[in-house]
Amino acid sequence: MTQNKSRVTHCMCVALAFFVFLFSQHMEAQNKKNKNKKEQTKETSTPSAKKEKTITELVKSSKKIEGLFPIYQDTITGSLQMIISDNQLDQEFIYFSQISNGVLDAGRMNRGAYMGSKVFKIEKYFDKIEFVIQNTSFYFDPKNPLSKSKDANISNGTIASITIAAQDKSKGLFLIKADDLFLGETLAQIKKPSKPGESPTAFKLGGLNKDKTKINSIKNYDENTNLEVEYVYSSPSVLNNGSNALADGRNVSIKVFHSLMSIPDNDYEARYDDPRVGYFTTEVDDKTATNSTPYKDLIHRWHLKKKDPNAAISEPIEPITWWIENSTPLEWRETITNGVLQWNIAFEKAGFKNAIVVKVQPDDATWDAGDLNYNVLRWTSSPKPPFGGYGPSFVNPKTGQILGADIMLEFAHFTNRVFYDKIYSLASLDTPFETPEDNESTYAYCSLGHQLQEDIMFASAAATAYAHSDYEMERIKKESMMALIMHEVGHTLGLNHNMKASQLFSPEQLNDAAFIEGKCLTASVMDYAALNVTKDRSKQGQYDDVTVGPYDVWAIQLGYKPFASESEHQALLNESTKPEHIFGNDADDMRSPGKAIDPRVMTSDQSNDQITWSIDRIELSNNLMKTVKNKFIKSGESYQELRRVYYLLSGQKATSANIISRFIGGVYIDRAMADQIGETQPYTPVSLKDQKRAMSALSKYVFAPDAFDAPNDLYNYLAMQRRGFNFRTPEDPKIHNQVLTYQKNVLNHILHYHTLQRISDSELYGNEYKLSAFMTDLNHAIFKADIYGNVNSFRQNLQLEYTGMLIGMLTGKQSSSYSNTSKSMALYNLKNIRTMASASGDIASTAHKQHLRTLIDNALKEIK
Ligand SMILES: [Zn+2]
Repeated sequence: MTQNKSRVTHCMCVALAFFVFLFSQHMEAQNKKNKNKKEQTKETSTPSAKKEKTITELVKSSKKIEGLFPIYQDTITGSLQMIISDNQLDQEFIYFSQISNGVLDAGRMNRGAYMGSKVFKIEKYFDKIEFVIQNTSFYFDPKNPLSKSKDANISNGTIASITIAAQDKSKGLFLIKADDLFLGETLAQIKKPSKPGESPTAFKLGGLNKDKTKINSIKNYDENTNLEVEYVYSSPSVLNNGSNALADGRNVSIKVFHSLMSIPDNDYEARYDDPRVGYFTTEVDDKTATNSTPYKDLIHRWHLKKKDPNAAISEPIEPITWWIENSTPLEWRETITNGVLQWNIAFEKAGFKNAIVVKVQPDDATWDAGDLNYNVLRWTSSPKPPFGGYGPSFVNPKTGQILGADIMLEFAHFTNRVFYDKIYSLASLDTPFETPEDNESTYAYCSLGHQLQEDIMFASAAATAYAHSDYEMERIKKESMMALIMHEVGHTLGLNHNMKASQLFSPEQLNDAAFIEGKCLTASVMDYAALNVTKDRSKQGQYDDVTVGPYDVWAIQLGYKPFASESEHQALLNESTKPEHIFGNDADDMRSPGKAIDPRVMTSDQSNDQITWSIDRIELSNNLMKTVKNKFIKSGESYQELRRVYYLLSGQKATSANIISRFIGGVYIDRAMADQIGETQPYTPVSLKDQKRAMSALSKYVFAPDAFDAPNDLYNYLAMQRRGFNFRTPEDPKIHNQVLTYQKNVLNHILHYHTLQRISDSELYGNEYKLSAFMTDLNHAIFKADIYGNVNSFRQNLQLEYTGMLIGMLTGKQSSSYSNTSKSMALYNLKNIRTMASASGDIASTAHKQHLRTLIDNALKEIK
């Protein structure tokens, strides 16, 4: 019956649709008739409308701003018109945008943030001008017939199609209305889309308000047209008003520089990427290649050409000029200049003298840092700075040529200003390198500053605790400033990070003040190495890099040296196996639990013996912890400083523990090409000795019952200074949570399914620390010392957490990611814990063991 009914309904639908179709055909015919009638009437009644307006008539009330694309701005309404000339049709240009000022509430929209560059073409379609973004991701060898089908299954992006308002046929000019092009999000998406799973109470940017959005400035040059637009996002009401950075959460301004520029017409030669050295790249796939690595990835570099091509060392025709913004504190200008110019040492080896020049922006300069024609070192002191340094550059996407760069520096990183939630929650340790959302590798967000700030505070705390002179404090600041500047300038020269560079020296060498004097403390300033703070304070020498490292010199040669032949280039690349050219970047680093495999590619570490170095740092922190009450309580001041130093020292211990943990299940990577001199083999598991050494260090410094002991009477003083109603509550120090977080960070790595899988797999190719041995050692480290007697509260926390993680491996959300062998060992360990936890102790320990047994019994029931 139901079936029949639905069939009837269906039939009726067809009939109805047929009727609607007939009716609409009739109506359409009728409308056409009416329309024709109307048009006829219009034409006969207003014959003057036939005459098209001329450009001169349409720009009558406008001011002309001459440049690449001449702009007319109406002097009454401010609206924009733009001229396109016919020799610009079918030509390619570059579009680039950056945030000239914004707020972090809206995502990464901070001052100076680059939004990448794209190639676009201007095309004419009947009475319209189109702006079409070109796809530059693929290469076809023009000699290969396949290149005829290079457009197959590839999309360009038509971002605008604007009706020509008037044209001057004799001069070949087209006038178009340009408000929609610049005042909307036509050229670039500015407001970030909301992500699934975002908290419904999070701050949300309103919709683009066209009435409030306006042009702030227009700067037009022969080679580029630049507009600053202030976008206003409005919402009638907001649940969350955002941070203090917003005066009114309902109306938020984001200022964006848009630049349209001509493609440089020069003899720049593209250079291609090699996995043995770390340049930023624009990825290009060679679609006509037949090998297994069809990559033609363009490295990013400046167009440097020798004035005298025959000289071994020559000045460049056009140097890379850096401007120190006039907002820079006077006392730092010399250090900054020195930092930038250190790179000239590397350029000399590549054949260039004075490749980089530094100038100071005059106080009465008429240009600002947003001007594309200037590379500027800028300072800000902003709320919750998103970076310590940021060195973005923008490139010609077709060649990789760097066309401009800026460096943003945050004042906070040279102060004791602390963002507790950022630095001490240790969430930062879990944050992987932030890959730009649109895959633009020209972004160079850099969290060196954050790490450096913590390290500067640590070095200062050590210096204060040992009553070093003011000179020592100045030295810490000066050297770390130099290091930060060199690092950020390195990004703007095209270099990305080298987190393996800290392998250069041994702990003994770093403890030898005379040996390290005047050197880079690692192979490269592009590392996030820890400051050199010696455990034996009498041996303290240099704290940070004061010049570029040997890897930097080599990398600059690879990017910039005019090679006489490809074989000369290859010969230099083949020097990658020299110990001082060691390289591994963010993609390989082990900051986040379970992420990568080579423990040498790590941040916040130092030396070629990271385990010894980390133990030294933990012991130094423990030594300092004993003195903090005496050294950091100042008469007449609150206890905020003491609290800061307590968290700082604990954080250093946690960071060191993470560094040690990466050796368990670690596999060293060698990216040398086959048969290259000095090549080992691509994968070599960490030796049994070093894995055992790491395990016993974790046992002693992370898991032992007394690992996080601090003088008990210190806790009474870890107080925050009250600030109105706006400070964290409840305010008491959460010591157990803090210690457990540090321990969990280590467990998250060594019990990660990637780590356990790798321990098993690498048993096949040289790993001698078997999964069964490691899991047994771990169980011992967490239980053996106290499970048969009284268990202190730190250990109770740890034992329960660890037991929960083992259960999670068997029955938790991620259990399917664990290998069967890991699961078997988890079960084996749980059963052992069950047996060990049967002994008694004081009431708290008895309760704790009962808790363990109950958890295990219940979990065992669930396992089928
Ligand atoms: Zn960096």
